[in-house]
Amino acid sequence: MSTVNGGISFWYAQEGAPAPREPLPGDTTADVCIVGAGYTGLWTAYYLKKAVPFLNITVLEAKFCGYGASGRNGGWLYNGIAGRDRYAKLHGHEAAVRLQQAMNATVTEVLDVCETEKIEADQHRGGVLEVALSPAQLARLKAFHAAELAFGETDRELYGARETADRIRVAGAVGSSWTPHGARLHPVKLVKGLADAVEALGVTIHESTPVTEIRPKHAITPYGTVRAPYVLRCTEGFTASLAGQRRTWLPMNSSMIATEPLTDAQWESIGWDGRETLGDMAHAYMYAQRTTDGRIALGGRGVPYRFGSKTDNDGRTQPQTVEALREILVRFFPQLAGVGIDHAWSGVLGVPRDWCATVTLDRSTGLGWAGGYVGSGVATANLAARTLRDLIQQDSGQSGPTDLTALPWVNHKVRKWEPEPLRWLGVQTMYAAFRGADRREATAHSAATDRVAVLANRLSGR
Ligand SMILES: Cc1cc2nc3c(=O)[nH]c(=O)nc-3n(C[C@H](O)[C@H](O)[C@H](O)COP(=O)(O)OP(=O)(O)OC[C@H]3O[C@@H](n4cnc5c(N)ncnc54)[C@H](O)[C@@H]3O)c2cc1C
Repeated sequence: MSTVNGGISFWYAQEGAPAPREPLPGDTTADVCIVGAGYTGLWTAYYLKKAVPFLNITVLEAKFCGYGASGRNGGWLYNGIAGRDRYAKLHGHEAAVRLQQAMNATVTEVLDVCETEKIEADQHRGGVLEVALSPAQLARLKAFHAAELAFGETDRELYGARETADRIRVAGAVGSSWTPHGARLHPVKLVKGLADAVEALGVTIHESTPVTEIRPKHAITPYGTVRAPYVLRCTEGFTASLAGQRRTWLPMNSSMIATEPLTDAQWESIGWDGRETLGDMAHAYMYAQRTTDGRIALGGRGVPYRFGSKTDNDGRTQPQTVEALREILVRFFPQLAGVGIDHAWSGVLGVPRDWCATVTLDRSTGLGWAGGYVGSGVATANLAARTLRDLIQQDSGQSGPTDLTALPWVNHKVRKWEPEPLRWLGVQTMYAAFRGADRREATAHSAATDRVAVLANRLSGR
């Protein structure tokens, strides 16, 4: 059976193309203009409108709601946030613990809002299981587990090989770490439900409306300009296409495959009854979920980055990436060697130079932005949105500082990426180093992390 490649994502193929919303009809004004209708933009519209129902909010989306990573991701709603350890170094351990606690609560918040708004997104709170497949991965897993405990995750559990197999029988797994702070969901069902909920509240969404430039109080499009005291950039991996933002966040590719539905006998041999999201401790790590209709959707890094911060058009991914992901699937579950791959696709995530997610409101210009989530944006976008709400309310004198505005990732500044060709060379070299390190660690008896990977991490600022 042939594999569908692209078409945005398997999730969209399953759900069907959304009914298009009207583009911006011409020049207009708003209280808040949000650029980008992924999770960040839509959650921000949701919380702002809930907090201040009379606000006039306009969302401008280049293609359609969920066109970006929010409609293509692995559906891990979990408590990881890019940059926490660096924030601990910059602002102290206690501040980073508060950030982590906010992320733990965010997983519950998203699930609660789904319930309130009746968003059926196949959500299942089975936690996150991260497995180790080599001595070096096991050593990293134990260090990671200890670090998470130190950041206040008292309910995390460390498993040996047998307990791991009791949950999911991953071939060669020697241990795992499980946290309850995670849920599996269907990304597109969430983004569509959210867009509908936001519209029902009275927010205006214009699709097929690319913003070419953001200036203080202006979002400029080919169809007209929206003037608003607050303009929020929620464009994550596509940010480089905006005037003046070419080197702000690097668009990193991540690719996925979805198998055909597995048979009952295949599921019997795998386990995975808890529907945990599944990841590993490789440098070029994988992530997977068991879908509601009995498939495995699995992702990882293919060609990491396109020269000049280019992004794909429809989610097509390279044949060698599809094959590499299929190999990971079969390495994890050898009994699936002959299973069909129904769909393959890719998307972009935003990577800041220091790999730290941020949320910012520049009070002198009214410009705000949130993102740089690297690979952990499904939950983080929700925390960012509630924080943008609080920052705007504070700026407009409706409230004072809140617990969220005091978190260490707020208003964090970082330098830009290097110009090309350095940017391209750096990312290619880093991922070549990671892939080599993963190969060597897979056969090594040592528990030490491969030295090349340590160096690559240090040089990349990861
Ligand atoms: C393959 C893949 C798997 C992933 N898996 C996970 C996962 O399992 N768990 C997790 O936590 N994170 C995951 N992520 C990351 C997560 O999906 C993202 O961090 C999150 O969706 C970002 O949401 P966002 O709204 O900020 O950005 P996006 O969803 O990318 O939305 C940005 C939107 O802005 C629009 N836009 C861009 N430029 C303009 C413009 N100039 N004018 C108007 N509109 C514009 C785009 O069309 C897009 O709709 C994954 C990402 C990818 C690509």
